[in-house]
Amino acid sequence: MSLAQPPPTASQQTPLITVEGVNKHFGAAHVLRDVSTRFHEGEVAVIIGASGSGKSTFLRTLNRLEKHDSGRIVVEGIELNDNVKNLDAIRREVGMVFQQFNLFPHLTVLENITLAPRRVRKTPRQDAQRAALELLARVGLKDHANKHPHQLSGGQQQRVAIARSLAMQPKILLFDEPTSALDPEMINEVLDVMKDIARSGMTMIVVTHEMRFARDVGDRILFFDQGRLLQEAPPDEFFDKQQNERIRGFLGQLA
Ligand code: ADP
Ligand code: MG
Repeated sequence: MSLAQPPPTASQQTPLITVEGVNKHFGAAHVLRDVSTRFHEGEVAVIIGASGSGKSTFLRTLNRLEKHDSGRIVVEGIELNDNVKNLDAIRREVGMVFQQFNLFPHLTVLENITLAPRRVRKTPRQDAQRAALELLARVGLKDHANKHPHQLSGGQQQRVAIARSLAMQPKILLFDEPTSALDPEMINEVLDVMKDIARSGMTMIVVTHEMRFARDVGDRILFFDQGRLLQEAPPDEFFDKQQNERIRGFLGQLA
């Protein structure tokens, strides 16, 4: 056959992450209930749901900050299990940005960003610093390289944390409510950086309450309810044609 094949659609590509029937308990609490989904290269998936619905736990199972009890998680062909070698590989490929920034307070901005590339990737100091300065320019902080975190605003610290994640050149970036700890006037500067990263083609999974971002940047919305992945849908379907009463109620509360 000489007919040219159309390019594969996202759903036909091999997924970067496959999640199959995942369960997780904390003691008697069943916090992830039979969760299955797939994430594809270049996709921005946005996770929403009420507090306590399992969003953070789900995100943390994807890079093995939490162990799942049953089911399978495969990231870039690597199964997440007790194999330590797999864990090292996963942590290199999957970056994470937290609500509380988690910068090292005693290190400068530049040192925060170059630490992991130098230690984990064995990048020479000069190269790591050059890359870090480029990343700082990209997040709008090129004049802040030699400051310490406490000298920066929350929004600036979160942008440093994003630059630090990017410095490891991950294939996938996870964000857990990256703007929830910020004063309102700083939220947009962080969302704008995230939009820029999304446009560059990064695969992103973002837990957020910023519905505007979810609608504008998300390719798919995942809604968690009491540990279940209750629905996944494109933003227009999710926000404008929502049939599920429970989700309509959740969205109504935010409006
Ligand atoms: P969300 O991020 O959607 O607010 P979480 O994933 O943080 O939800 O929490 C889901 C449930 O698991 C909640 O009931 C929470 O109290 C519980 N939980 C989360 N982390 C732990 C933990 N380390 N130990 C015990 N219970 C936990
Ligand atoms: Mg959470």
